[in-house]
Amino acid sequence: MEKKDLDWAGLGFGYVQTEQRYVSNFKDGKWDEGGLTEDANIVLNECAGVLQYAQTCFEGLKAYTTEDGRIVTFRPDLNAERMFDTAKRLEMPPFPKERFVEAVKAVVKANAAYVPPYGSGATLYIRPYMFGTNPVIGVKPAAEYQFRIFTTPVGPYFKGGAKPLTLCVSDFDRAAPHGTGHIKAGLNYAMSLHPIVEAHNAGFAENMYLDAATRTKVEETGGANFLFVTKDGKVVTPKSDSILPSITRRSLMIVAKEYLGLEAEEREVYFDEVKDFAECGLCGTAAVISPVGKIVDHGKEICFPSGMDEMGPITRKLYETLTGIQMGRLDPPEGWIVEIK
Ligand SMILES: *Cc1c(COP(=O)(O)O)cnc(C)c1O
Repeated sequence: MEKKDLDWAGLGFGYVQTEQRYVSNFKDGKWDEGGLTEDANIVLNECAGVLQYAQTCFEGLKAYTTEDGRIVTFRPDLNAERMFDTAKRLEMPPFPKERFVEAVKAVVKANAAYVPPYGSGATLYIRPYMFGTNPVIGVKPAAEYQFRIFTTPVGPYFKGGAKPLTLCVSDFDRAAPHGTGHIKAGLNYAMSLHPIVEAHNAGFAENMYLDAATRTKVEETGGANFLFVTKDGKVVTPKSDSILPSITRRSLMIVAKEYLGLEAEEREVYFDEVKDFAECGLCGTAAVISPVGKIVDHGKEICFPSGMDEMGPITRKLYETLTGIQMGRLDPPEGWIVEIK
């Protein structure tokens, strides 16, 4: 298969239309058999449930070219499971998990020419999503839905090295207790746009959200979970029912324990403790881990000893080990790497 002639290393994180996408429709109480299409556009009724009451959710994962030239995805079964849970919370018909994984494989295979080559630093981003399609004006769940997956090649996240980020503690809340913070719903992102625009205008890369009920505990940013490293080398991640369960973060906790022999703990993290950590990172599919150098809380600065020039040493080891697994340089745990054939 001939690769597309794209400037892989020069790609950003933007939409580049690829040739095929997957579509399945839910009607009369069941999902149809689904399939690939070249049509990138969606025609909807003006009163579609997604347009009126934001009944939509999504997932995000990547396909990689390994060192030995295979195309693989990373733990797509966990994306299938998380989208299943999200759909249930939004009163949407869950897309069957096995079919989700098969659809991911089909759409990546159909766009294999867009999977960036090994060593370019670029990857193929995969975006599954679902939305209510029939007219809904009285507030209720839609009766008809569409599930789609498109792919788009994205460039290396860290161009010219991973520069540590500066975050600010947000005055806004991301997720209410017993709300929707733990599911990947578009609505969580819609309400985060104003806080992120304000943070960017003030010169910060991301918001650190605290728990809405007490404003004393660390939750996450708009789109990534926190990992901290203590001064004695233990990896700590916040535990909360209103955090989105990041697959990257869950995988890094296993990498810390099984590959690096570190202690790794998921527990409540009070904001007051943050100043005592040695390293801080943000984890998600896009960057794996972005190092955080500084957190500003209403003028008070917390500066991590790892500094503003490079990743902390344990953050770097975690990053290198997980990307090593994803790129086929290290042996993966059972079931983590799914090859597209
Ligand atoms: C998607 C997402 C993450 C990262 O999850 P991954 O599965 O690691 O990509 C973290 N926080 C939020 C709010 C998210 O939506």
